[in-house]
Amino acid sequence: MLVASVLLPLPLPEAFDYAVPEGVALKIGDQVAAPLGPRMVRGIVTALYEREGVNRPLKPIVGKLDDPALPPGALAFIDWAARYACQSPGEALAMTLRGLRSPPPKPERRLTGSGTAPARATPARTRVLEALAAAGLPMRAGALAAAAGVSAGVVKAMADEGVLTAVDLPPPLPFGAPDTALSGAALNASQAAAAEALKALLAQGGFQAALLDGVTGSGKTEVYLEAAAAALASDPEAQVLVLLPEIALTQAVLARFEARFGARAAEWHSGVAPPLRRQIWDAVADGTCRIVVGARSALFLPYRRLRMVVVDEEHDGSFKQEEGFCYHARDLAVARAKIEGALVVLASATPSLESLYNAEAGRYHWLKLVQRHGRAVLPEIDLIDLKTSPPDAGRWLSPPLVQAIGETYARGEQSLLFLNRRGYAPLVLCKACGERMTSPDTQSWLVEHRYSGRLVCHLTGWSMPKPDACPHCGAKDSLISIGPGVERLEEEARLLFPEARVAVFSSDTMPNAEAARALVGAMASGEIDILVATQAAAKGHNFPNLTLVGVVDADLGLRGGDLRAAERTFQLLAQATGRAGRADRPGRALIQTYMPEHAVMQALKAQDRDAFLAAEGEMRELSGLPPYGRLAAVILSSPDGAKLNAYARTLAAAIPNAEGLEVYGPVDAPLALIRGVRRKRFLVRADRSIDLQAFMATWRARARPPSAVRLSIDIDPYSFL
Ligand code: ADP
Repeated sequence: MLVASVLLPLPLPEAFDYAVPEGVALKIGDQVAAPLGPRMVRGIVTALYEREGVNRPLKPIVGKLDDPALPPGALAFIDWAARYACQSPGEALAMTLRGLRSPPPKPERRLTGSGTAPARATPARTRVLEALAAAGLPMRAGALAAAAGVSAGVVKAMADEGVLTAVDLPPPLPFGAPDTALSGAALNASQAAAAEALKALLAQGGFQAALLDGVTGSGKTEVYLEAAAAALASDPEAQVLVLLPEIALTQAVLARFEARFGARAAEWHSGVAPPLRRQIWDAVADGTCRIVVGARSALFLPYRRLRMVVVDEEHDGSFKQEEGFCYHARDLAVARAKIEGALVVLASATPSLESLYNAEAGRYHWLKLVQRHGRAVLPEIDLIDLKTSPPDAGRWLSPPLVQAIGETYARGEQSLLFLNRRGYAPLVLCKACGERMTSPDTQSWLVEHRYSGRLVCHLTGWSMPKPDACPHCGAKDSLISIGPGVERLEEEARLLFPEARVAVFSSDTMPNAEAARALVGAMASGEIDILVATQAAAKGHNFPNLTLVGVVDADLGLRGGDLRAAERTFQLLAQATGRAGRADRPGRALIQTYMPEHAVMQALKAQDRDAFLAAEGEMRELSGLPPYGRLAAVILSSPDGAKLNAYARTLAAAIPNAEGLEVYGPVDAPLALIRGVRRKRFLVRADRSIDLQAFMATWRARARPPSAVRLSIDIDPYSFL
């Protein structure tokens, strides 16, 4: 009897065996429908073998599905990713199959001439036939009526009469075929050297990794476009993937790909409509889609012939997925490239300590671009000590920064005020009783949003209209807003510069990718004088007339106290200040801080990345923290506090003995209560030589959680909340 092992996209420990019915031809990777209890589920064939003498009859699979098979690389990647993340392979498969949730868009009904002349030729009817002839393609009824300038009734009557016939055409693909014969920008000498180095790695073939380390505006995108062209030209089926940390960045990168290759690349992120995602998924699997630009989840697509992966802004924390299937897209991108025998390019102006460590150890080819392209120079950076130059009461912009904004505005140039805090005010309290407004069942302050008039919990999304009276003591009009968010800064900028055009850029004010694109466009074309923005605007954008960046609260990121706080602050501020002066006007950045003597601030001022990294790296090495050691977090959560505590003790007693590894905890998580669910954490630190995943798997197997408690493992955690 032929048996198929079928992996189901569910948290099950392994693939299940099914009988293959007579006459069903299967190969590994095929998608099948298989029974699971009373349900029918989609699964992937991971093995096929003959078995004699079955003692227990196997259920047969129901049949092979028409959807494309998963290529071998995709299957190997699913296995690898699951082991890396301490999750079951079914959960990794679920990440891959997500794009299949929706059916592809339906064929579209279009009209074309039937060749029969109309019985009665009116001028309107003649115009319809002329419009069709001009288009040279079947057209949708509405578009045809519009092109001919006639009413819908005219078109319908012609169709009813048989003058026009309907054809059902497949919907257009949301991407095109790249033309690799087109050429890109003329590269400057250091760009050309970096591009040549990447092309040489591609020509060598097999797995290769490169760190493209170039200051903001040095042309890293131009360099990887050039390498992508070489990868695509090397093989008519070669595929290229570009991962970006922010949806807001995709439009700009898509536009550059379109300009370079004369066709749209496929766009992949949560904002893309499911039917389009389905089309892209199928086309990635059958190889017709050759360039994907997207968010971290694009890594799980079923590439047939992936030749190159770019992780742009590789240092960015948004590549880390913190919930559900926890993974770091940069690390998985390297793994995927290894599996596929592809080139992976990690690009950044402020690479992560992890990637620099690998570059220094010679595991990654280290390509450097030290100058901005053309005449653009890096901005001059100054610190404003808020202790000696404080803003006026109830204000957040210090006098030197206000003066600089005024001068910039007077010159007709643009300013960016950067504050990584959404909303109007991070805290609302009652001045009568001192009550702080918090989220119910969650330990988190409510953030005031003036645009929506609501108080919002940024952790759970819970919100309420801002009340007129304190819900605690009932005092009227007693609620006051403490501290600034971007909306409050916008208010201040409008007060100070009533003539200036002021706009806000944050995830709340940008409901979708389209709105973000429009705002980025308005800024790029000079329709905004002062842009107040969270980190959404700190990354990657090119604003030629932007010459002043003001960092409103540089100390914000340093308060969190997690291991990457200083590194993250440095990266974010270096990116933010790097927005200034990108074309031919020199830029300036002013950083407001209470800690001008802090190593991060001093390194930013001196623009001495290497000095900062050396100090930071030394500290990490001494304490055995990443990249010199490895971390894993265990998060236990349950609505039942007693069961949670009991299981935490059981798990603590089950810690396996191991050298070169320490387990801390259990402790209450800093966010000990979310939506009524209590949380506890363990933290594991291990030397690099230790197989951390094997340790975690052994530990978990020794003390499985009861059903009331959820256990999740986060390898290489970025959040310690
Ligand atoms: P990075 O990704 O390093 O920040 P970009 O590739 O976005 O840099 O380049 C910054 C700006 O300089 C962009 O507007 C880009 O079009 C321009 N630029 C970079 N290199 C060249 C080049 N060789 N020729 C023309 N323009 C270039």
